[in-house]
Amino acid sequence: MFKILVVGSGAVGKTSLVKKYSENSFSDNYLPTIGSNFASKKLSLDGNEVNYQIWDLGGQPQFKIVRQSFYRGAKGVVYVFDVSRRETFESLEKWREEVGEVCGEIPGIIIGNKIDLPRKVETEEGHQYSQCMNNPYFETSVFLNINIDESFESIGRLIIKRIQNSQNTREKYSIIPVQKNQPSSIERSSKFLW
Ligand code: GDP
Ligand code: MG
Repeated sequence: MFKILVVGSGAVGKTSLVKKYSENSFSDNYLPTIGSNFASKKLSLDGNEVNYQIWDLGGQPQFKIVRQSFYRGAKGVVYVFDVSRRETFESLEKWREEVGEVCGEIPGIIIGNKIDLPRKVETEEGHQYSQCMNNPYFETSVFLNINIDESFESIGRLIIKRIQNSQNTREKYSIIPVQKNQPSSIERSSKFLW
């Protein structure tokens, strides 16, 4: 299960993107405390079966602490801005900081949405910012159905890559994961006591 966050300023198209991507599986679950939308989607990525759980902040909760409680446990993040409103591009940094405080360095992509409208942010600027942040950049239009599947598949691939890298690191340094439910030595020895 990959929990994926979709964040960005109000009205950039977060809910529309998630709805379009997840089609019928979208549910508009209103959770009073955090006001979020939730969608799930099953997909196959290069032979890996994955389940997405995609979250976007429904309303705009005023308090950072409320937003941050919703970030917990995320494996990836989609930062969205609206290419027709420059201030939404300039706000990306604020969203990165806020997510970073809770999630640390998790895989992310940046989406410039609404490319069917007159632009205030050029493709090149979006690319440059994304490169600095080390995140892939996509431009989308929900209205014209451009690049939406590609964007959401890309975040899944990044998450898979991250998981594989951490497995390789564990193998390389022979770090053996602690096994849950393994009887402790006391439990094991108690067999003999009985
Ligand atoms: P959110 O607040 O980020 O979740 O934004 P919404 O998904 O509610 O979208 C805000 C408004 O932008 C709605 O009126 C959408 O219909 C519109 N919108 C979303 N995506 C696009 C797009 O690609 N092109 C255009 N022209 N409008 C869009
Ligand atoms: Mg929304």
